[in-house]
Amino acid sequence: MRIDKTGKIIDGFFALGNSGAPVHLLDGPVPVLFDAGFTAFARAYEKDIKSILGSRSPVYLFLTHAHFDHVGAAGYLKSVWPEMQICGSARAGEILSRSGAVDLIKELNEEAGQLIRAWGVDSIYEPPFKPFGLDLVLAPDDTIELGREYTVRAISTPGHTWDFMSYWVPEKRILLASEAVGSDDGSGYIVAEFLVDYDVYCSSMKGLARLDPQILCLGHRLILTGPDAKRHIRNSLEQAALYVSMVEKLLRDEMGDIEWTVARVKAAEWDPRPLPKQPEPAYLLNTRARVKNIWERMQKKRSKKSRVQDTPG
Ligand SMILES: [Zn+2]
Repeated sequence: MRIDKTGKIIDGFFALGNSGAPVHLLDGPVPVLFDAGFTAFARAYEKDIKSILGSRSPVYLFLTHAHFDHVGAAGYLKSVWPEMQICGSARAGEILSRSGAVDLIKELNEEAGQLIRAWGVDSIYEPPFKPFGLDLVLAPDDTIELGREYTVRAISTPGHTWDFMSYWVPEKRILLASEAVGSDDGSGYIVAEFLVDYDVYCSSMKGLARLDPQILCLGHRLILTGPDAKRHIRNSLEQAALYVSMVEKLLRDEMGDIEWTVARVKAAEWDPRPLPKQPEPAYLLNTRARVKNIWERMQKKRSKKSRVQDTPG
């Protein structure tokens, strides 16, 4: 099943706020949240979380990575529930402590807020992104006990970013993998989300596929259940490979010119996509990162090839 709405997914597990950038809630004796979306949706997350938890407080907020659209409301939620511990990888913690990164998160959330307003979404939270730090740094494979019922395992899954952690709730076979498994634009088209390393991205995704999730939460728009979850990961790997071949061809056509290639990728991929879609500045930042990564990979392959050819023998 493909679920594109917020609300209850299964007993005790919810997607809240806005399906474009939801906060997920696993309820139980130790309620926990996953990711913190856009700053603009801060009040919507709070309202939805309170509608389920009442006066109880979430105990942990697990962050997948320090991108603006995954941490946007974390500082606000921490001010609502000061006891809640914000958790993420050491690398995410380091990023969130850098003033340059915080300024970029703030700026991108501001731009996203304006776009979201233009789409006609009401009750936008207007104040700027509120900086915060991690309360708990997670190492790969750390397991957090949530009372007697559930556990959450942090799985290092770099490739989209280097700081990426996916979260696995084995008792319910829920995998919160967000962009570690690519994004679906809503039409079934899967956006390849490797921003730092294509090969590492694929190997992380293959590791996640082995978990055989029953519920797969993408970072944006969709939750996939049953066979659709498995199918998504398989398609995502195929789509990423096709994307790499397309960009390699464009890079060759443009003689390695990154900006021209980015413009051509955008014309083919982003321009025809219907609204609501990823804001253009964020799309361009990501596409530039993907194109550079593919170009570097081509150079590495080429120099390896010429080293082999130069080897006498
Ligand atoms: Zn991201």
